[in-house]
Amino acid sequence: MTMEKIRVGVLGATGMVGQNYIRLLENHPWFEVGYVAASPNSAGKTYEEAVSGRWHMNTDIPKSVRKLVVGDANIVENAVGKCSFVFSALGGDKNEIKAVEKSYASKDIPVVSNCSAHRHTENVPMLIPEINAEHIEIIPAQKKANSWNKGFIAVKPNCSLQSYLTPVYALMKAGYIVKRIIITTMQAVSGAGYPGVPSLDMVDNIVPYIGGEEEKTEDEPKKILGRIENGKFVYNESIKISAHCNRVPVVDGHTACVSLEFGSKKPSLEEIKKIWAEFRSVPQELKLPFAPSQPIIYREEINRPQPRKDRDADKGMAVSIGRLRECKVFDIRFVGLSHNTVRGAAGGGILNAELLKAKGFFD
Ligand code: NAP
Repeated sequence: MTMEKIRVGVLGATGMVGQNYIRLLENHPWFEVGYVAASPNSAGKTYEEAVSGRWHMNTDIPKSVRKLVVGDANIVENAVGKCSFVFSALGGDKNEIKAVEKSYASKDIPVVSNCSAHRHTENVPMLIPEINAEHIEIIPAQKKANSWNKGFIAVKPNCSLQSYLTPVYALMKAGYIVKRIIITTMQAVSGAGYPGVPSLDMVDNIVPYIGGEEEKTEDEPKKILGRIENGKFVYNESIKISAHCNRVPVVDGHTACVSLEFGSKKPSLEEIKKIWAEFRSVPQELKLPFAPSQPIIYREEINRPQPRKDRDADKGMAVSIGRLRECKVFDIRFVGLSHNTVRGAAGGGILNAELLKAKGFFD
């Protein structure tokens, strides 16, 4: 028996993340794109006209989307009746995105967002389903507080976190206290959207600053690793994180060099590799279509992971780790890598939506 697919909308469909949604949703077993929206500049054009000359994917625009007429994402009424929920990959002013996403939720259209606008909004879960799938349980409180019926907002964190937080969480889940982490990220240019960082700044260069990124890398894990108490999130303040975020001339794939300090109980390097190899969580248990079969892949080669070779691991949804060794200041060091526009953006958003669907939030 074939299941009827849920029609979804993509806000910011013409951008770097939006194009990845369009690419990744082609032939999705549960979802199909019924609506696309972007800025007023693109509104009124067919999707293929709107992205003409700036389609960045390595596959062609899916046939089913080419002729869809792009709506103005700011006008919610355009989406009504065309989709059951939207993925939000909107660029622009954060406060405007905040208001736009709320207006969709208020019109019974749930929002699964990539944007930072609502990441710290009370009652909005910030999800990495392998870590905190249970945070979706806050959604009824969010709906109640806003007097929303079917609508709600769920978000994913910043792309920089994906390269290291799941491996760190796996160690915590295995019973080890993590006290302090120092992270140095080397982030791909696609993380800045299109056209992003000027080529003359990037070629033959490294830019040791990405606005707001270090704060997000340090603060967002506190909510993700936090808990719900009396209908509210209690942030996990016990881990201290210090981040250096750098933009490097790599197209896709964020790398993170991590030094980590445990509490008094310290696992051996072999034990850590075993924990990572065996780590499975809710998306794997639920067999969600976008779940990587092995969320953390350890590479024994001395010079891996590398963006070009490892970013596409398990459809771009797995985190690749390597170079685990002792640290002379903290306890251990390792290198993590994940695909920023897949696991860190559109693929992560799709996995969140699959979790929400599996748990009945779109019924
Ligand atoms: P982008 O390439 O600049 O695309 C922005 C999209 O938003 C385009 O579709 C654009 O439409 C639309 N837009 C811009 N201003 C608008 C407005 N005032 N009203 C309605 N639509 C508007 O950016 P991106 O890299 O895809 O990022 C999109 C969002 O995802 C951002 O919030 C970003 O922080 C977040 N994010 C990005 C990444 C990544 O790796 N790139 C990772 C995680 C999260 P037009 O084409 O018509 O201008």
